[in-house]
Amino acid sequence: MTLSDSTSPSLQQLICSNKFGSFFGVTRETLDKVWSRLTDPSRNSVIYISMEIGADPDVYNPVRDFLVENDLTFSSDPALQSLLDKYIQGPQKIPNYSGGLGILAGDTLKSLADTHVPVAGISLLYREGYFSQLVDFKVGQIDHATFWKPAVTPTLFPLHEPGQPGTPLEISVPFFNGSEKETEINARVWVKLETSGSMDYFVPEFLLDYNLPSAPEWAREASKQLYSAKSNIIKANQRRLLGSGVLPLMQKLGLTARTIHLNEQHGVVVTLHLMLREIKARLGSDYAELLTDKDIKDIADKVAEQLVYTIHTPVKAGHDRFARSLYDQISGKVDRKILNLLANDEDSPDEYNFTALAMQVNRTVNSVSRLHRDVTRRQFPRFADKINAITNGVHLTTWASKNRSRVFDSSQLLNGWRDDPGVFSHARLHTDSGFRQQLLTAWQEDNRKLTEHINNMLIQHRIQMAETWIEPPNYLSYLKDDGFLEPGVFTIGFARRFSTYKRADLIFDDIDALAELLVAGNWRVNFIFAGKAHPSDEPGKSVLKLILNNQEELFTKSKGMARLVFIPGYDMAIAKMMVSGCHAWLNSPKRPLEASGTSGMKAAMNGVPNVSVMDGWWVEGYHNGKTGWKFGYEGPVAEADMSETPDSLLYEEDSLSFYQLFPEVLRTFYAQPDQFLDIAINNLHLNVPIFNTHRMVAEYVRKYELQLDRETEERLERFRKLYQSEM
Ligand SMILES: *Cc1c(COP(=O)(O)O)cnc(C)c1O
Repeated sequence: MTLSDSTSPSLQQLICSNKFGSFFGVTRETLDKVWSRLTDPSRNSVIYISMEIGADPDVYNPVRDFLVENDLTFSSDPALQSLLDKYIQGPQKIPNYSGGLGILAGDTLKSLADTHVPVAGISLLYREGYFSQLVDFKVGQIDHATFWKPAVTPTLFPLHEPGQPGTPLEISVPFFNGSEKETEINARVWVKLETSGSMDYFVPEFLLDYNLPSAPEWAREASKQLYSAKSNIIKANQRRLLGSGVLPLMQKLGLTARTIHLNEQHGVVVTLHLMLREIKARLGSDYAELLTDKDIKDIADKVAEQLVYTIHTPVKAGHDRFARSLYDQISGKVDRKILNLLANDEDSPDEYNFTALAMQVNRTVNSVSRLHRDVTRRQFPRFADKINAITNGVHLTTWASKNRSRVFDSSQLLNGWRDDPGVFSHARLHTDSGFRQQLLTAWQEDNRKLTEHINNMLIQHRIQMAETWIEPPNYLSYLKDDGFLEPGVFTIGFARRFSTYKRADLIFDDIDALAELLVAGNWRVNFIFAGKAHPSDEPGKSVLKLILNNQEELFTKSKGMARLVFIPGYDMAIAKMMVSGCHAWLNSPKRPLEASGTSGMKAAMNGVPNVSVMDGWWVEGYHNGKTGWKFGYEGPVAEADMSETPDSLLYEEDSLSFYQLFPEVLRTFYAQPDQFLDIAINNLHLNVPIFNTHRMVAEYVRKYELQLDRETEERLERFRKLYQSEM
């Protein structure tokens, strides 16, 4: 159907503009409503700062879905047609994330949009993304820059100077660099609209783009690639680009938020700027000379009232430290005084510790699960009183597969599930035989889709082998007739960043034992792995290589019953296909280093059971075995358990525990399919209402201390009732 514009006013209404630019996918009324709340003098809104935001349009884009479902794909207006093309055919990836932290940020902002909370996100735009991963059988991971085009990517728009279309909006950001004199660097600003599911609200994410010809080389270098670790100075500069850009951006756009939420400490430099502003106001032009330690402490207490801080990991590498000698060169005198007082590293006096600064200057600290709260309190005993748990969640409609969503849509019991994950908790899903059958069929289809995707990939890799120097990463690609997967075979997935504490190779610690148990039970199993190791994480890359190296041995020793496949280029789309297409989701970190973990929650949203170490969210999501299985060490956690050294990673003990458990999982799947389906439905029933970002943001909004209208407040209160993390 082709709709002319006169018969589709709704399409025309989806183009709107304000003084900063034109946008697509929200009506003027919505645009004005959101913008006026973010710029209101009452300051009743929130700025959410994150180094990374993962929200690829290919896995979730309500505007595109609306266009496609309503057949609104053609227009006689060329301007409108180019927007339709952009949304429907444009590149669907925004590679500005590395893993769980960024995707959590994206899921959070989507739920804030769905629940109508006035929030704006701020992050950086990385022209080279994170990195693209090729995998070669002999070499392992090969990483290269990702080039992408923000201008043609749906949901993204460049801002222009107020009232001047064609002139890109620029903000001036102050920096110290090698001298006591401040210099200003310009950044352009993009906005990504995170539109609510029903397109009646949105949360803007402002992405600062420092990659301008006018910018000095150091700023361009630091803005190119997320978590670039080419040098410590680049790393420090990347944090500065984020934290220093916040106040100038707020000023330029007129954003008035009183509360600033730091998603991890990467953006904590904003705290220095908030303090500096206050110092200047209090002490006048001679502030640098007059400033005393007492002033700093007083002002830190005052600024703390504005900050909410979420800490995401007990792993030391996740907390930024910079040598004082290095950081002093890129700071002003006042910054140095503040850092000296508030960013001490207890283990290493020569470094500034940015986690220490974030820990100190805030009104509340949130950890990302109950176990992580206990660990964080132990790691930071001075702040134990203000450290609370808000257990992570995932955005339900982003992560439920199309097939599963269709089943949820058609069930009377789940009426309204897209707006309220709570409906899963009071539904009598178990006894509805129609629902059971439909869910099973959808699961089988998702498994077939995953299997097909992998088989196509194996063929592609063979072609690649003939045409390039890259050796296919999978042993199966080298087999002639038998080198494929079959749908319906028990499929267990593992995909996440390849950090050593996540122990991707744990279950291959004793291949003989694993192969033996499969042969003994006559159980076929497909093991599907994916994930990227940070380019400078050599131990992480070794683990990835080990997975590849295990494939042939496992295949041979299990007489072909076990097939281990690695999918290169892990991203959100692959994640969604895997969490819905597998029969079980494996999580094998060293307890208690996985503070939360979210991929397992994505599996749960599809009813897929977890097979997991008792760490992070699974301590809360396990429900005495009703929703899946546990293995490995689960005793008390001591200081020594925080270690990541190879000999403290408990491979032998925890893998043995897995081999003892695994037959039970397989027996249930192959011999008691009804019981397996019960476990799946228990996940929907018990875990969907808890581990979703609607409930999570409802808990955060209480910390934000906003005045909200009654309707919004009631909606949030309903979600809060689903679960209380702080128990
Ligand atoms: C969900 C997700 C992650 C995080 O997984 P964890 O289990 O939290 O480690 C990482 N990468 C991608 C692409 C994801 O979708």
